[in-house]
Amino acid sequence: MMKAYKIKLNPNNKQRTLLERSAGVSRWAYNWALEQKKKRYEETGKTVSQADLRKRLTKLKQTDDYQWLFQFSNNITKQAIKDSDEAFKRFFKGQARYPRFKSKRKSKWSFYNDNHKVKRSDTHIRLEKIGWIRFAETGYLPIEFKPLSYRVSREGLHWFVSITVEIPDSSDYSTPVNEPIGIDLGIKTLATVSDGSVYVNINKKHEVRQMEKRLRRLQRQISRKYKMNKEGSRYRKTCNIIKTEKEIARLQTRLNHIRTNYIHQMTSEIVRTKPSHIVMEDLNVRGMMKNKHLADHIAKCHFREIRRQLTYKANQSGVSLVVADRWYPSSRICCECGVMDKTLKLSDRKMKCECGNRIDRDMNASINLSRLAV
Ligand SMILES: [Zn+2]
Repeated sequence: MMKAYKIKLNPNNKQRTLLERSAGVSRWAYNWALEQKKKRYEETGKTVSQADLRKRLTKLKQTDDYQWLFQFSNNITKQAIKDSDEAFKRFFKGQARYPRFKSKRKSKWSFYNDNHKVKRSDTHIRLEKIGWIRFAETGYLPIEFKPLSYRVSREGLHWFVSITVEIPDSSDYSTPVNEPIGIDLGIKTLATVSDGSVYVNINKKHEVRQMEKRLRRLQRQISRKYKMNKEGSRYRKTCNIIKTEKEIARLQTRLNHIRTNYIHQMTSEIVRTKPSHIVMEDLNVRGMMKNKHLADHIAKCHFREIRRQLTYKANQSGVSLVVADRWYPSSRICCECGVMDKTLKLSDRKMKCECGNRIDRDMNASINLSRLAV
C-alpha cells in the first residue's frame, strides 16, 4: 500500500525564491498545455497527446524567448503536462467540469520532482536545480522504504514536501486480537471510545481559543484597512496590510497543524490498541454543515480527516474499519438491556434507562457501536 509523508521544509531566502519560481513554472506549463489542448478540442473535438505536448515544449525551449525554462527541472513541466492531461481525461469521463486555467492567486503553489532526481538524507532533501534544503522536522520518515514521488507545495507561508512511499502489505504485522472498538464522534467531545478513553474537542482548549480570537481580530482589522485604502474600485495594498495578511496566514497554518496533529495522535492511539475491528458512525457531514450555527464548529473538528486517517491507519495494521449506517440509533439504545429510549433528547447528556443503567450518552453510543456485527 502507499503512504504519504508530508514534511515541512526550512528553505533559505534564495531557495524560497527558487521554490516560488518553480511553482510558477509548473503553473505556466499547466496553463500552456491546457491552452494547446483546449484549442485543439474546441476546433476538432480531439485532444493533443502528452508526448506531442512534450515535443512542442522542447521545440519552444530552443527559441530565445523560452531559454529561461532551462533554469528549472524538466520534471516540473513534464508533470504539469501530465496533470493537464488528467484534467481532460476526467472531463471526458464526466467526472469533472471543463478544465480551467490555474490562477496565481487561487491555485495551490506546487510542483513535482521525479524520484531519481531527488536525493535525501536524514536532515536534508536535494531538489533538482534548487539544491539541498533543510527539513524543518526530522525523525519520522522511514528511510528503508522506496519513495515513489515527491511533490513540493506551499501552505500559508510554509513549504512542504510530500513523499509517497510504498509500504508492504499488513502481512508482517501481528494479527489484532483485542475486543472490537466503537467510536462516537461529536462536537462537545470529539471522540468517545468504547474502551473508556475520551478525546476532548481541542478547539475548546484555552490556547486554541486565544489563537482563534486573535485571528478574528486580525481579519476584522484587515477588512477595515481595505475599506480605508479603497482607491476608486481598486484596492491599494499598504505595508501594514501585507504584514497583517502574513500574520493571518501564519496563524491559520499553526491552527491547522495543531488540529491535524491532535487527530493524528488520537487515531494512532486508537489503532495501536489492536482491536479486532473498529466501528465508527457514518457522519453526514454535508448535512450537518447546512446548520449554519454548527457549520463552523463542525468544520474545525475535521471529521472527514478523522475518517481518512482511521481508514489508512487501520488498513496498515490489519484492523478492519466498519462504518455504521447513518441511521443506526447508537445513542438511543441502552447498552445494558438493549431497550430503545425514544424520549432521549439531544440535550440529554446522560442515558437513564428503566433497567437502572446510568451512563454518559456518548459512552453508551460508543459501546453500542463496538457491538455492531460486522
Ligand atoms: Zn437498560
